[in-house]
Amino acid sequence: MDNKGFFGDWGGAYIPEVLHQTFEELKKEYAKARQDPSFWQEYLHIMRTYSCRPTPLTHAKNLSDHFGGAQIYIKREDLNHTGAHKANNVMGQGLLVQRMGKKRVIAETGAGQHGMATATMAAKFGFDCTIYMGEVDVMRQRPNVFWMEKMGATVVPVKDGSRTLKDAINEAFRDWVTNIDSTHYVFGTACGPAPFPEMVSWFQSIISQEAIEQIQEYHGKLPARIYACVGGGSNAMGAFTHFLDTDTELVGVEAGGHGIETGQHAARLCGKDATPGVAQGYKTMFLQDDDGQMLETHSVAAGLDYVGVSPILADLWEKKRVRFEAATDKEVMAALDLTMKKEGIIPALESSHAFVQAFKEAPTLSSDEAIIINMSGRGDKDIFTIAHAFDDPSWKEFIIARGKEYSSNS
Ligand SMILES: *Cc1c(COP(=O)(O)O)cnc(C)c1O
Repeated sequence: MDNKGFFGDWGGAYIPEVLHQTFEELKKEYAKARQDPSFWQEYLHIMRTYSCRPTPLTHAKNLSDHFGGAQIYIKREDLNHTGAHKANNVMGQGLLVQRMGKKRVIAETGAGQHGMATATMAAKFGFDCTIYMGEVDVMRQRPNVFWMEKMGATVVPVKDGSRTLKDAINEAFRDWVTNIDSTHYVFGTACGPAPFPEMVSWFQSIISQEAIEQIQEYHGKLPARIYACVGGGSNAMGAFTHFLDTDTELVGVEAGGHGIETGQHAARLCGKDATPGVAQGYKTMFLQDDDGQMLETHSVAAGLDYVGVSPILADLWEKKRVRFEAATDKEVMAALDLTMKKEGIIPALESSHAFVQAFKEAPTLSSDEAIIINMSGRGDKDIFTIAHAFDDPSWKEFIIARGKEYSSNS
């Protein structure tokens, strides 16, 4: 990152005047934390005792044998507290908030996973917490809303625009502008204005810090390739960071939705539908029309359904250090099915995108090579979507019976 927050041509900090001082304070605190080894020690201690770090690196022997190529290893970010890599970021930012002496945190959330993680962190650190969530997402993700509220957070349904993630981000910025002194905005991914892309990536880099040791211990050498799904890009940056200076090939997998050619997808760096633009405080490749209006995106995985992408990944894409691919909704369901049957592991719909691409390429590599799939989260949260996609009749019966039970009691 240069001193204006750019990675090559990408990133920056396009923020309103009123936020300048807050950003200066945040940048200073972040820079201090990076130079202070005790900060990372404290962070590690929390992640070891509150989350489940170090997360295991699992040799997926059955899947490896099934494809008859590379040895497939799975980095188990699903075993973090709250079920995904999001914990790595929120606990890190929580420590910074504590050091800045602030008492209130706000966050945006789409599927509710970042909202859940932030509400959890706020409960642990004793912060007030407000979560902005598009009204449509509040309806779609009721279980997460329920838990956030139970942990003491206020969930505000956002009624603007398409009433989804990007509208929630805009509303969170509006809150921040009016409550700068008391409040920190816990941004959920490696996007937004500097220093967020780099700061979030730093907290997530704990993934590759562990994985680079683990793979050498278990496999004796570095992996040929690493696969990670890409929504905003935080789990991918986390999985890639410590391998950037090695010969390991890095592969980011975006949401192909109904297929890149249908226009119903969220593929920005793979495919030709995204163009450079500035929005939500930073410059990246956005899915937008000629007037800069954001396009509707589609993915079966709510966490990948976003118009922008990390400016750091845009830079690594331009430099050809990271290769980008896309997986369709249909391919995702097949990879998820196979992983459950062969390994007894349920990847999140988001994570399953990485599995799709790894499964396509594993047979082309020799059996003394290793590949790592970064499993960003667990699929339990997706039971409604997965059961619906598998068209499971007994699940449908269960839901209908539950509905009847409620209506007869009321
Ligand atoms: C939020 C989420 C993602 C997408 O976010 P990134 O910033 O791209 O990592 C991926 N997987 C899971 C399980 C998520 O919860």
